Amino acid sequence: MGIIQKNDCIFCKFVTGEIKPAVVFKNESVLAILDINPAGALCGHTLVMPKKHFETIEDCPEKELKEAIAAVKKLVPAIKMVSGAEGINVIQNNGQAAGQLVNHVHFHIIPRARGDGIHFNENRRKPRPMELTEAAEAIKKALE
Ligand code: 5GP
Ligand code: ZN
Repeated sequence: MGIIQKNDCIFCKFVTGEIKPAVVFKNESVLAILDINPAGALCGHTLVMPKKHFETIEDCPEKELKEAIAAVKKLVPAIKMVSGAEGINVIQNNGQAAGQLVNHVHFHIIPRARGDGIHFNENRRKPRPMELTEAAEAIKKALE
């Protein structure tokens, strides 16, 4: 299959080499680069993307996602070692409402330390009675 790039996509420009980011890993289908604005103080916030342009996890074929997550798996211990991180977040944003800024599907690998001031886990709520059961049923139905 040929490479599918999108003209106005900055990540596609990284793939073609038109713009040169700090590349940490690449293979036939995946590119991993350092984020230009890392979260937290540790070095190594990495973005792992399929080389082909897909906007979100919904558009991206399973094959490309598997290849990207295999690269994530490979990169995590290296990033952990180099950054001295105590933990790692892998996150993946889809859609503006979810904080997606670049519409080329990608995984963030974020090195973490205790008390580093990054908060993904705030403002959790207590579900109303039956909410989880009902939502689980609705999702299972949608999967059918
Ligand atoms: P999103 O919010 O879409 O999940 O994440 C996009 C990420 O791309 C952000 O963390 C942002 O800092 C990073 N980013 C945006 N523009 C550039 C760039 O020109 N170079 C690099 N290396 N990262 C970028
Ligand atoms: Zn793209």
